[in-house]
Amino acid sequence: MLVKQNLIEFKKNLPKEVTLVAVSKTKPISDIMEAYEAGQRVFGENKIQEMVNKYDELPKDIQWHMIGHLQSNKVKYMAHFVNLIHGVDKFKTLKEINKQAQKHNRVINCLLQAKIAKEETKFGMSFKEIEEILQSEALTELKNVKITGLMGMASFSSNDKEVSDEFKSLKTFFDKLNNAGYELSVLSMGMSGDYQLAIDHGSNMIRIGSAIFGSRNYIA
Ligand SMILES: *Cc1c(COP(=O)(O)O)cnc(C)c1O
Repeated sequence: MLVKQNLIEFKKNLPKEVTLVAVSKTKPISDIMEAYEAGQRVFGENKIQEMVNKYDELPKDIQWHMIGHLQSNKVKYMAHFVNLIHGVDKFKTLKEINKQAQKHNRVINCLLQAKIAKEETKFGMSFKEIEEILQSEALTELKNVKITGLMGMASFSSNDKEVSDEFKSLKTFFDKLNNAGYELSVLSMGMSGDYQLAIDHGSNMIRIGSAIFGSRNYIA
């Protein structure tokens, strides 16, 4: 019952235009079903094999988002069903996603991950690298991927100003790209600890794990 209550509480204060991705990594099928029965349909996982196993077992109207760092050689296992890939941080990965999507006659939606945190451990590209991909001739040849937006993770910090500045920088970049004609609709930023700041700074997709499912036993 806890998952259901958490979810209902959580959604009460969520603006309509913000999509909630329930991050179910490391959590059992029973927890996901509880969220599903409470109406949740969008779930995020950070490991391809774990997401595939859950996809196989769970109702097929769930939209699965891959939010983790991608290993190109595993893209093929999720290409038939994945709904959105958040963590694309290389052109090479886009090429592999395109190749696998083509085999299933699909167009796979992708977000380009920007590095906005100062921490060395966070993945992602510079704004310049993102612009280079969006402007590249090579991208127009990838007919089976569609870049629908950007994703970013802020520093793990209790300094609200620092976190806000990072979110703000990504929103400014997102707006700049849209003003230049790129038609990006998704800005994925915000997790359990910082989603309010993310929404305040223009996020329209948040990725929430522990605030819904409780803390995880290990850091995934
Ligand atoms: C685990 C994870 C989340 C959710 O984290 P919580 O703090 O549990 O909400 C969000 N985004 C990414 C990329 C993650 O790996």
